[in-house]
Amino acid sequence: MKSILENARRCFICNRKEVLQKHHIIGGPRRTMSEKNGLWVYLCPTCHARLHNDPTELRNLRKICETKWLSLNNNDLDKWMRLVGTNYLDLIPSRPKEIKNNERSCS
Ligand SMILES: [Zn+2]
Ligand SMILES: [Zn+2]
Repeated sequence: MKSILENARRCFICNRKEVLQKHHIIGGPRRTMSEKNGLWVYLCPTCHARLHNDPTELRNLRKICETKWLSLNNNDLDKWMRLVGTNYLDLIPSRPKEIKNNERSCS
């Protein structure tokens, strides 16, 4: 499936188009799942290498991806958890309390 995060074939971070690699948002054993569900982006080799050396950026990209996926899937967090197994949005330490409370009361 094509990426849910971008339509154009260009680096997700710096927009370069020359040389592109596919980065799967959820790697390891869930890489195939990631591919099938469009949880990947194109990256240039520079941004790709930098991303894999930066745990914070990797997590940020997962958050962006989860947010996007949820918006495309009626905020079905249970489905996301079955698919991915981790709720990255819950890992935001600086998340304002009122937003969390709102979400709790909606679910
Ligand atoms: Zn780039
Ligand atoms: Zn990668």
